[in-house]
Amino acid sequence: MTPDEFRAAAHDMVDWMADYMAGIEGRAVRPDVAPGDILARLPAAPPERGEALDGIFADFQDIVLPGMTHWQHPSFFAYFPANSSPPSVLAEMLTATLGAQCMSWQTSPAATELEQRVMEWLRDMIGLPADFAGVIQDTASTATLCALLSARERVTASRSNEGGLADEGTLCVYCSSEAHSSVEKAVKIAGMGRANLRKIAVDDAFAMRADALAEAIEADIAAGCHPVAVVAALGSTGSGAIDPLGPIGEVCARHGVWLHVDAAWAGSALILPEHRAMLEGIDRADSFVFNPHKWLFTNFDCSAYFVRDPDALLGAFAIQPEYLKTREDAAVHNYRDWGIQLGRRFRALKLWFVIRSYGVEDLKARVAAHIALAADLAARIEASVDFELLAPRSLALLCLRWHPPGHDDEETLDRLNAALMERINDSGKAYLTHTRLAGRYAIRVSIGQTNTEARHVEALWRQLRDGAAAI
Ligand code: PLP
Repeated sequence: MTPDEFRAAAHDMVDWMADYMAGIEGRAVRPDVAPGDILARLPAAPPERGEALDGIFADFQDIVLPGMTHWQHPSFFAYFPANSSPPSVLAEMLTATLGAQCMSWQTSPAATELEQRVMEWLRDMIGLPADFAGVIQDTASTATLCALLSARERVTASRSNEGGLADEGTLCVYCSSEAHSSVEKAVKIAGMGRANLRKIAVDDAFAMRADALAEAIEADIAAGCHPVAVVAALGSTGSGAIDPLGPIGEVCARHGVWLHVDAAWAGSALILPEHRAMLEGIDRADSFVFNPHKWLFTNFDCSAYFVRDPDALLGAFAIQPEYLKTREDAAVHNYRDWGIQLGRRFRALKLWFVIRSYGVEDLKARVAAHIALAADLAARIEASVDFELLAPRSLALLCLRWHPPGHDDEETLDRLNAALMERINDSGKAYLTHTRLAGRYAIRVSIGQTNTEARHVEALWRQLRDGAAAI
């Protein structure tokens, strides 16, 4: 493809992209396809000879698009959002065009230094202490794994990287029973053994109980085990519970345990000073992660990982083969040593575009608007006789269920609510997911797509009531 052919094709595709954005509400949020439908339309073997781009793009529209779930649909209320924005998409186009592999300062000095600066901006925007240093990871799962590996090295005085874990005894990690599954996955990968992950009891709001944490750590120490790290959630995945960092941090400080804060979703709300109370106690945290790719209008993937002591991170990950050495090594950040993989995408660019394009004030207003929409829906649910909240509203997340008066059998309620949710999802008009809270089936409504407005949430509330009436 010549540059001119590229230019023409790119113009066509950008037109398509703008039309897609403008017309997305006309699409079903979740596609109506069965497992294998798309696969059946894809040839078993690759083409021997190159094909014209027109044909490939036509197949994208004909085969791929009908099988996509539209995460950027304003009626996407499932999981947590992975919202994006036009400036972020444009930056991704530039990143792809540059095609730079930004593992070291020398392999793209601007990528490294832009990442440094943008992470400082983000740190200050969300009110983290100034002594945190940031690095962009692909996902919160990776950041949490980095935290646990750094903590493991600290507890074992770097012996585990050198000699393995055989002589290190039992290494324990703690999180609440509501913590994200990435913590368990990280414990397994880090070789500490999932049996040594202690899932701490939660209170009525599904937040970790610091007293139960203290008891668990003390019992482990008495039994000769070594507490390595506590992972506290600011915004648990099920219900958005906020673990109390202050009391948890005190327990960690008492026993010299690494405190990692997983604010993957809720961290974006920290740009609003009125939500910073959840940071109380952050002074005792060793590491913190949140995902601009969830709720800060930045395309997946972009996870902001902050550490108090970069040397602990470098101690766990830095490695200097001859072929990677550069003459600037002593003077620069080589982000390849701040995480697991060697190769790195230029992710800072999209954050820079997003923050500059909207400005902090507008970003705040957008996140605040999502929270206000959730508060409004929560008020409607609380005022209704046949719907209820199963957890306190957390920021822009609600966990609700349909509970017709007089129908109190839990199994029946679970079944009715699953049917209600599937009915809405099958309609393509909105997309919801569920969780279980204290054993009960809860429908989650997570508001955060960039273009979600009051009318979309009102339509969802109508669909919930109409669906319940029809069932
Ligand atoms: N932590 C929490 C609290 C989450 O809700 C999620 C995902 O929703 C994750 C971690 C994992 O995020 P990622 O997909 O960036 O690994």
